[in-house]
This record gives sequence, C-alpha cells and structure tokens, in this order.
Amino acid sequence: MNIVTEHTEEITQVKVPLPFPLRWVNAYLIRGDNGYTVMDPGLHTPDAEALWLQVLQERGIGFEHVEQIVLTHHHPDHYGMAGWFQERTGAPVLLSETGYAQVQLLWGAEQPMSALLLKLFARHGFPQDGLDEMTKHMVSFVEMVSPQPQVTLLREGPVRLGNRVYEAIETPGHAAGHLVFYDGEAQVMFCGDHVLPQISPNVSFLPQVEENPLGAYLSSLQEIGRLPVKMAYPGHREPWPLFSARAAELVRHHHERLALMEDQLSASLSAYDVCRATFGDRLSIHQMRFALSETIAHLILLEAEGRIRQDDPTAEYIRYITVSK
Ligand SMILES: [Zn+2]
Ligand SMILES: [Zn+2]
Repeated sequence: MNIVTEHTEEITQVKVPLPFPLRWVNAYLIRGDNGYTVMDPGLHTPDAEALWLQVLQERGIGFEHVEQIVLTHHHPDHYGMAGWFQERTGAPVLLSETGYAQVQLLWGAEQPMSALLLKLFARHGFPQDGLDEMTKHMVSFVEMVSPQPQVTLLREGPVRLGNRVYEAIETPGHAAGHLVFYDGEAQVMFCGDHVLPQISPNVSFLPQVEENPLGAYLSSLQEIGRLPVKMAYPGHREPWPLFSARAAELVRHHHERLALMEDQLSASLSAYDVCRATFGDRLSIHQMRFALSETIAHLILLEAEGRIRQDDPTAEYIRYITVSK
C-alpha cells in the first residue's frame, strides 16, 4: 500500500495511520504558489507525528511552507493533528462555525458532550453497566486532539486551496457543519467523510446538534450527488471517479435500512434492541457508540415521517413501535 500518492501536480494524498479498524485517514497536501494547504491532517498519535515528519522531510517541505490547515469537519481523525501543525507552522486552521461549536462541546472545558451522550444512551436502553466504559472511551480522545488549535471560521462559498478556487459547500449529516470543497471547472471534489467509497459514512444523532441528522444527510447527498465530478478525494479509502453513483447508492442503502428497522419495530423495542438486531451483539465500545447513535438517527427519521411512534413515553427508557396503517 502506498502511503503517499501524488495524484496531480498539485494534489498529494497522505494516509495517516489510525488505531481503529478504518486503518487510515486521508490527508491531502495541496500545492500552490503561496505554499501548501494541509487538509485534514489526522488523529494526533505518535505514529501520525512520525509519519508527517518523514513525509515533509522527504518532500523538502518545511513547516514555513505550510500556508493553511483546512478541515472538512471536526471529527478527531481529521481535526486531531491540526493544533500540532499550527504550533509548528503558525498557519491558520480553518473549520466551519458549526464544527467549531462541536469541538467545544466534545473537548472544551468539562467536555459537556460526554454527559449528554451518556444520558441519551441511557434513555435509549443502553445498559447502565456499560456507561463507565463509554465515558472512558469518550475521555480517551482528548489526548488525540491536543494541543487544540486556534480556529479561524470558514464559511460556505469560495475558498482558495493551492492555486485554485473551490466552493465550500455545507453538507450536514455525517457531521453537522461538514464542508466539501468543489472545483466545478476541473470537476474535482474533496468530499471528506460525506461520501465514501465502500464504506457507508456513519450518521449519528448527537444531543444539541442536529434534530434529524439522517434527514439532513439524505437531502445534502441528493443535492451534491447532482454535481458533475470526475475525481472525488475522500477522507477514507481511495480517490474514485464515480461520485454520483456512490451518492445514489448511499441514499438507497439508508432507505433499505429504514425499511428494515420499521419491520423490526412491529414489536416494541428500544433503540439499543434495534441496534443489536441490526449491527450484531459483538461490537467494541467504539463501534457500539457509533452504531447506537446511528440507530437513533434512523429511528428519529422514521418517527418524523410518522412510520413509528414512541410506545410508552412514561417508561424508564424509550421504546418504539410501528404506526399501524
Ligand atoms: Zn468523520
Ligand atoms: Zn473520518
């Protein structure tokens, strides 16, 4: 496997290692007359640090040649190294306003998201004895996103990456405030984790963030799926040309999963029950966190569409059941 791939004279992909089954995140070095843009530099681990030092040295790129650090979204596997780069380069770190708000919820003072998420999971039937492990899991990320950068807010609209002007387009769903960067003339898109080849991007419900994240995901997928794209550069796996086809496939995948969950709910079940029926019983705590948030996102959409309802709102935890037609 190539760690570094030069796709064009301007665009170089760097696979930054991750200690998860995903294995790596794609960072991109985008070369321009004013220096390099580093997109999504990765999760901060000793291995990622070592890789960056080696890649920069081999390519003769000094820290002073880094013009800016641009983030598609705030997830730790993309954001984690941003502060490390900023410390060494003094370059601005660009992130959307909604993404920055979540950085503060997740890893700001007292990390309010941990408590909110645990409360949500308990309401949806996640067993009490698993909550401690889930807390430890959440806290373990703080180190991997430190030091945290000073963030410059990035809005939708034109943004220069290297020598070309891209359109930053907000594509919520996988992450609120997620941005893709589209060059309509070259028909090139940096799509972050919004659309991935082979993998279905996680769509999580998070408290205080987005009321119906799957609804937002499906509409933004349909919207950007219409754009002509000859090459898409994703956050994971390899760049690929058939962007629109993949976007349409992901829309189908979620509609199938919604139908499946609706069927399961002919019996009254909690989101945790539906999660285990859908994703299996043998998930790690990391996988469980995303599987359960994803299940809740699907159930919220089904409820919004009037296909399921809460069975007994006074019960200790929420159970859902299909609305009989
Ligand atoms: Zn992500
Ligand atoms: Zn990612």
